[in-house]
Amino acid sequence: MTNLSHYQSSHNLGKVAIIGGGVIGCFLAYRLSKEGVPVVIIERRGVASEASGWSAGNVQPATRTYGQFQIDMGAESLAAFRRWLPEIKEESGRDIRDQKIRYLYAAMNEDEVQDTQVFAQELSEAKLRVEWIDAKAARELDSRLSPGLLGGMLHSDCIQMDPYMFTNALAVASRHNGARLINDEAIGLEFLHDRITGVKLSGGDVVHCDTVVLAMGAWSGQAIKKWLNVSLPIGPHALQKLHLRPKGPRLGCAVRWMGTNMVHRSDGLMHLGSKHDDTGFDARPTNDGKEWLLERVHKIFPSLKFTIEEAGAGCGASTPGRVPILGPVGLADGVFVSVASTNGFLLSAFMSDVLTELLVHRHVHTLLPELTSDQAIRRSADPQLKDI
Ligand SMILES: Cc1cc2nc3c(=O)[nH]c(=O)nc-3n(C[C@H](O)[C@H](O)[C@H](O)COP(=O)(O)OP(=O)(O)OC[C@H]3O[C@@H](n4cnc5c(N)ncnc54)[C@H](O)[C@@H]3O)c2cc1C
Repeated sequence: MTNLSHYQSSHNLGKVAIIGGGVIGCFLAYRLSKEGVPVVIIERRGVASEASGWSAGNVQPATRTYGQFQIDMGAESLAAFRRWLPEIKEESGRDIRDQKIRYLYAAMNEDEVQDTQVFAQELSEAKLRVEWIDAKAARELDSRLSPGLLGGMLHSDCIQMDPYMFTNALAVASRHNGARLINDEAIGLEFLHDRITGVKLSGGDVVHCDTVVLAMGAWSGQAIKKWLNVSLPIGPHALQKLHLRPKGPRLGCAVRWMGTNMVHRSDGLMHLGSKHDDTGFDARPTNDGKEWLLERVHKIFPSLKFTIEEAGAGCGASTPGRVPILGPVGLADGVFVSVASTNGFLLSAFMSDVLTELLVHRHVHTLLPELTSDQAIRRSADPQLKDI
């Protein structure tokens, strides 16, 4: 189904329509528009109105659900963020509230000690700045950390920013470089013979294009099935979060524990998330979700006082092994997919780089063959990944 070598030789890029104005679509629009490619972003609600806006905004390379290459992708993406952030800020004129942060992967029992020590080793193999620290050193970072803490992995190669402001900054910077944003819903694709020629909009118009990229997050799977008759393993996945306002000094470090991130944003709010729910597209904050999240912050920071400012939920995509799906999709020429799993904010820079390299420079990144639709289908049949 996916023939990467074809795109190394004969594909005519022309005008590119990107469906989806989340961080994945907007980062790609930014990268392509900087290369002088004519780009249109089609977004039905508003830029960053779905998962991207609700994200913690962590650029924290640390996923290894399927293999070491995921850590390498994260590390490459962090480097790409560092490379592009100054230009994005300058071209958009927007404050994205970015900050360097240190993340403590807390260990509260012996199993967690072992696990975080192995993890530290794997991350350092990708040349990320991580170290194991004991409980005393951790409490020197923040004395409010639990007396039950045994230590943890301190990850110093992380950036955090306001995800809503960043995604909007990408859209503004893309427009600065000539991209167009259309506020409408894409309802289908148009083809001539085996080539994409346009995107049909709900208002009746057609956006003519030579290439289309489906970057619709959790909604990509159903659109690909309907428009291309291809079944890809992209599920909707609901995630709940809270915004707290801590009293007292800022946290001395961000903390990750039992899948939960606690990070003090530069606007003074603390992101506490995420509770993963198996409720499909129905993403909403619940009392159970709130209790579940608060229980974790009380365990890690028992003496921290705070008020709850906001509860929210977003619908992200889930893919087998949390590996993104990137590259050509379906049989027609010029149709691409770019969908990340629940770490898409981190991977947005890497995925945009890889697709820009393929589309503009006809270069196949060494990791791209791992990310194709065919690989995703193969992975979905792996029984070991069923519970991820
Ligand atoms: C609470 C929470 C915390 C998270 N924290 C992190 C984190 O710290 N780090 C990290 O790496 N990831 C994090 N994630 C995951 C991350 O947010 C997502 O992986 C990422 O935002 C996905 O971006 P996207 O552009 O693919 O999807 P989205 O942001 O969902 O964007 C898809 C867009 O497509 C549009 N769309 C859909 N269908 C159509 C259509 N037919 N026509 C036009 N437009 C359409 C939607 O309106 C939407 O705006 C978090 C997610 C949540 C919910």
